Amino acid sequence: MPAASSLSRADAERRVAAAVDAGGLERAEALLLAAGLDDAGIRDAVREGALESKRRGKGDLVSFSRNVFIPLTNLCRDRCSYCTFAKPPDSPEARTYSLEEVAEVVRGGLATGCIEALFCLGDKPEVAYREHRDWLEQRGYRTTPEYLVEACRVAFEGGMLPHTNAGILSSDEMQALRPWNASMGLMLESTSERLCAKGGPHFHAPDKKPEARLRMHREAGELGIPFTSGILLGIGETDEERVDTLFAIRELDEQYGHIQECIVQPFHPKPGTGMRAETPLDDARVAGWVALTRLVLGPQRNVQAPPNLAPDVLETLLDSGLNDWGGVSPVTLDFINPEAPWPTLVELRRRTEAAGHRLVERLPVYPEDLLGRPERFDPAVRQAALQRVDEAGWVRPNQEAAA
Ligand code: SF4
Repeated sequence: MPAASSLSRADAERRVAAAVDAGGLERAEALLLAAGLDDAGIRDAVREGALESKRRGKGDLVSFSRNVFIPLTNLCRDRCSYCTFAKPPDSPEARTYSLEEVAEVVRGGLATGCIEALFCLGDKPEVAYREHRDWLEQRGYRTTPEYLVEACRVAFEGGMLPHTNAGILSSDEMQALRPWNASMGLMLESTSERLCAKGGPHFHAPDKKPEARLRMHREAGELGIPFTSGILLGIGETDEERVDTLFAIRELDEQYGHIQECIVQPFHPKPGTGMRAETPLDDARVAGWVALTRLVLGPQRNVQAPPNLAPDVLETLLDSGLNDWGGVSPVTLDFINPEAPWPTLVELRRRTEAAGHRLVERLPVYPEDLLGRPERFDPAVRQAALQRVDEAGWVRPNQEAAA
């Protein structure tokens, strides 16, 4: 195998073409191409191959989900060095939504055509904070996931389809959430143990231990839950660790077939955090990793990049093999990255279509699961989902608010 520095563009093109024809990269090839992503010529070869792979699996379609973001609680027992979402209970910004507030967000979302209620919240705050334990107890709950079940019920009965990302959940907790959720998720982020060591971004975050996150992915797979995973780029991991993370996601899906999408999310340094002075990946390299993700995962899997985290290069991302923009909200902020506004749906459609792709609206599940794997859903959730889609599984045009 040649050293990374000896990889020419022609050599990269040949290797990429072979991977596209084979339906996926092998690990050694992925490592070689990853090491070349700093070179614009090799990066372009990877991106061109990724776009061809996406076209073979997804044609010209690029999807999004119109959602509301409900940060049910921003208390969290973990302290990741890059996070501004989590607040301690004595912060004036600490907030846990009441069920009435959940219902209000849902009503606002329905009024603007949103279907997905994205529940995203801190991990196990009741373990760290007596105030939160008391808050839950006063309302009759022992744990945040018990309360989350009720919040999801309120959202579902209010007319939306929940997707939950609540950190590490047990198998029993996922089972309890299932009657109200169309899908669930947990960013794998990274399989690097190194990032959990002293001085690493996950040293104070027990729920970021790779084994805990892999275990939840496996348990979701055993339950057959449509599951969102993803990789976080630029928090100190090496190229090899990124490749290992992508292969872990591929192997989970090969074993259980439940990974509905893989998010490629770049880290952005934020004021007031321990990683405020870190240099993030530039947009070109983010696009390179979107492309490598496509080549590792192959033509059929769903690859997502959030449009608000690289708003200047949507066209470059589109030409790098993604087929999904993820949740985009006309109503609520991205509470994880509040400094990064969503593009309007008008702009997203205009730019996606100008780049030669066709934008389609999806539910918080993809058509292949909704139509092809009915056993993955609670029957009432599937019924509610089917009422909103056409025969291909995309949101019916007459359900779309003006975009
Ligand atoms: S687990 Fe999530 S919410 Fe909690 S500190 Fe880490 S990034 Fe923030």
